[in-house]
Amino acid sequence: MYWEKLSHDEITSQIDAALGNNMSYKTKKILGVPASYLDEEQFYDDAPFLEDSPFLKTLIANPNHIGCHTLNEDSEPFFKGTQKIEVELVKLCAEEILGGEQDAQDGYVAPGGTEANIQALWIYRNYFIKEHNANIDEIAVVYSEDSHYSMPKGANILNVSSIVLKVDDSTRMILESDLKHRITQARDEGVKYFILVMNMSTTMFGSVDDIVRVTDYFENNNLNYKAHIDGAFGGFIYPFTNDKSSYTFQNERISSFTLDGHKMLQTPYGTGIFIIRKGFMEFALTEEASYVQGKDYTICGSRSGANAISIWMILKTHGSDGLKVKMRNLSDKSKALCKKFDKIGVEYYHNPHINIITIRGKYISPQLAKKYSLVPDVHSKTPNWYKIVVMDHVKQGVLDNFIIDLKSSLTTD
Ligand SMILES: *Cc1c(COP(=O)(O)O)cnc(C)c1O
Repeated sequence: MYWEKLSHDEITSQIDAALGNNMSYKTKKILGVPASYLDEEQFYDDAPFLEDSPFLKTLIANPNHIGCHTLNEDSEPFFKGTQKIEVELVKLCAEEILGGEQDAQDGYVAPGGTEANIQALWIYRNYFIKEHNANIDEIAVVYSEDSHYSMPKGANILNVSSIVLKVDDSTRMILESDLKHRITQARDEGVKYFILVMNMSTTMFGSVDDIVRVTDYFENNNLNYKAHIDGAFGGFIYPFTNDKSSYTFQNERISSFTLDGHKMLQTPYGTGIFIIRKGFMEFALTEEASYVQGKDYTICGSRSGANAISIWMILKTHGSDGLKVKMRNLSDKSKALCKKFDKIGVEYYHNPHINIITIRGKYISPQLAKKYSLVPDVHSKTPNWYKIVVMDHVKQGVLDNFIIDLKSSLTTD
């Protein structure tokens, strides 16, 4: 994994050049599109701070990145300058962060991890229908009970069934017995095609599914499956903290990934990323999108080019080395906190490559949870777990105070 860090000036001049290759609503005769620059009353483009702010400049110029630009060169010509930055961004994520071969992946910047996950389910559902003549009730989505709710949401929208696998209460790993039992049962009921979603960090625990073991089961039983990786949380930390990750495109069992800039990269909301091996995006083609040059392959349709710019800018601001340092600092800080929990006998779950620590509920009083804004696993009844996410704003002093308060609450109870 390697890419250069760029200075603010270098970033600004590259974005300026990209905007220069877009058609400007200000200078070109653009009569046919139902769009313009942002309303000038509020978003005037001669504000002095814009000169130095490539993201805001792009936001106001308002380029539309509708469609999938890694697929065809002939997509919407109006905004080809900033769309090229998006292509470069997808390439960087696919090849440098996720170890893909050169020009072997497609992808786009989605509104978030939810859409990217549903995009994957949509593509594989259509793939099984088109390539294997599958019936809708012969397809199921398989994921652990710790998976994000975008999986049941997607299965519901796409009208396919879900197989939700139980995990071990302490290790948070999928139970082999439940995997065997549930898949055998599904096969008996006529399910022949499996869309497997593996977590490169779950939202609540930071657990990373045991992908080798789970996919071994599908391989050894000659099951017809496609594997998607939900890296909405972990995608911008795990590859930087674990050199030996099996979550890369070098793993042939993996077909696609979801990443989210707006979690660990601290980019604005609207910066999910969907990346898939070439040859699959076509299963999401909407032929009827005839007014869009280059057609549409995404769920969302119109989307702001400024979002892609923001992710590209953050990746280039830090460079791969900078992000490695930043992400390793967060996982190290989490490990140090775990050591303090060990000392005072507080039980927790922590994956050493991730910055989430999930503490057993019995150690946390409601007052303490409120004071430090800890997030529970359930809001409706007594929580079993509370999590701490060691983000950039979580300073050591606050963690130290938390430990002091936790210690005293445990001795007074
Ligand atoms: C946050 C998250 C999502 C959903 O992402 P949004 O950007 O909120 O749509 C999906 N999966 C995991 C593991 C997440 O942490």
